[in-house]
Amino acid sequence: MKSSPLVRIALAAIVLSPVVVRAWDYDGHRLVNQLALAALPPEFPAFVHEPASAERIAFLAGEPDRWRNVPDLPLRQAGGSWTDHFLDVEQLPAAGIDPATVSSFRLDFAVAFAAGRAAHPQHFPAIDPAKNSDHTREWPGFVPWAITEYYAKLKSSFMYLKTFEELGTPEEIANARADVLYVMGVMGHYVADCAQPLHVTDHHNGWVGPNPAGYTTWNKFHTWIDSGFIQKAGITPAELLPRVTPARALALPARSDGRDPLFVAVMDYVLAENRLVEPIYRMEKAGQFSNELEKQGLPDRNHGPVNPAGRAFMEGQLLQGGQMLASVWVTAWRNTVPDTYLRTQLLKRQAASPPAAR
Ligand SMILES: [Zn+2]
Repeated sequence: MKSSPLVRIALAAIVLSPVVVRAWDYDGHRLVNQLALAALPPEFPAFVHEPASAERIAFLAGEPDRWRNVPDLPLRQAGGSWTDHFLDVEQLPAAGIDPATVSSFRLDFAVAFAAGRAAHPQHFPAIDPAKNSDHTREWPGFVPWAITEYYAKLKSSFMYLKTFEELGTPEEIANARADVLYVMGVMGHYVADCAQPLHVTDHHNGWVGPNPAGYTTWNKFHTWIDSGFIQKAGITPAELLPRVTPARALALPARSDGRDPLFVAVMDYVLAENRLVEPIYRMEKAGQFSNELEKQGLPDRNHGPVNPAGRAFMEGQLLQGGQMLASVWVTAWRNTVPDTYLRTQLLKRQAASPPAAR
């Protein structure tokens, strides 16, 4: 986490770019979900690997970006659509919040952040209402909370799937499996977003504020990392899949501070990605993302040399996103407990109407 005096001084002068944050484009998100599927250990439910299921999970990697294309402002603001895709980590200390102790309750955090923002107005730029129709500019993003909530939804889906597999009808089992695929796929989008360091920083569209190192202020840097460089480098699933290793469940020790253990693990992941922000800008400055022509306004996605260091970095980020996603899926599976309420209801149903009598 950046907390040096230099950064604290920089926070006072940060001006957010008016260019909106984007995500890995569909190809990158799809790839991360596919890498995560390949990382699942053998004991994970096999139905997720059936061709139609695997394609469904890959397709859903793009779902939260599709939600952005409707004009409905409440959805554009809400967790499902816009602010769930990122976390501008530097805005937490700017609001007096320590990322190491931040609440795992989304609304508790929102209340604390709003109060902190109001108490430290000098750390935040004025908001232009004309560019804030969806009322998102007030917020630093909520991606760790979104992932935590999807994790719990996945546990829920596994809970009732297991119970239906014991006592349900074929239709109920099929529906429960479809729900598992849906939650896995959509959750993958947000985990992958965090594997792009420019999703977890104020410097998401070029460096902002004091810039003694002379990092790029090019406001298309984010888009180039999301999609342009991947396309130019021609990174494909076929070359990354052999590098996937079997995922293990995340260690989730009980906590004395009341914070959700999965949330803490996700925040650790986000903060680790935030520590890559300055390195990624150093790489850009050194020409390692092969974007010289793009910065001059010359489209360069389909030709030209690709720097091997930039390519290696990007491959590593995609693989890291896939491994983390698989670990979250496995953790949900391992931590699923029986749905005792549903089981009781199904036993009553069975007693009232034995299978032979249906
Ligand atoms: Zn996104």
